[in-house]
Amino acid sequence: MKSVIFDFDGTLTCKNSNVWKSIWQNLGFDVGKNSHYAKLYGDFISEKITHQQWCDLTCEAFISKGMNKSVLDEIADKTKLISGAHEVFETLKKEGFSLHIVSGNIISVIERVLGENVKFFDSINANVLQFDERGRLLHIQGTNYDFAGKARFVEEFKIKTGILAKNIVFVGNGGNDEWAYLSGCRTLCINPDDAEKSNSTKWHIVLNDVSDLKQILPEINNLGLKM
Ligand SMILES: [Mg+2]
Repeated sequence: MKSVIFDFDGTLTCKNSNVWKSIWQNLGFDVGKNSHYAKLYGDFISEKITHQQWCDLTCEAFISKGMNKSVLDEIADKTKLISGAHEVFETLKKEGFSLHIVSGNIISVIERVLGENVKFFDSINANVLQFDERGRLLHIQGTNYDFAGKARFVEEFKIKTGILAKNIVFVGNGGNDEWAYLSGCRTLCINPDDAEKSNSTKWHIVLNDVSDLKQILPEINNLGLKM
């Protein structure tokens, strides 16, 4: 049994603005250095607030500006999958890999961007935005699996499935993916964003200029997961 776990933003998508930042901007908030947006992020990173508190405070701000589901759909429709994604998912499934997404994005956005490619995924793990029947935001349920949670996901996944760490590849691009290696899995960094790409403990292979996701297929072989 073997598995590939993908980050979403900047890994499976063409580089675009962070979904959360886009929502804040879309609702007319300032996203500068001294903004409420920046302060909440800073409070989370410095552990003054938990991930769920961050989500709750974000939700409160969004509701104050009348956040509606259409904002999410608009952002999703501007997000494009990286070239070759469909072929990679199809190839990996044929080769017997289970495929997963572990992301700090929002499940409904990920599903909308993936379109028919949703069928290739055994699980999609991300934040959940709940709306009422008129599309008004009610609640943000934070994912347990962002930042340090990315390693936690792989740990729990190993226990649940019995798949050995050496048979799991985590593919990511950012600082929030850098915990994954702690689970013992293989790690592949593509198009590094704020990832510490020269750190070979965190990232076993780094690919700087990936314009087509098919470029990762030989690297999965090189990481020891034979296809
Ligand atoms: Mg990312």
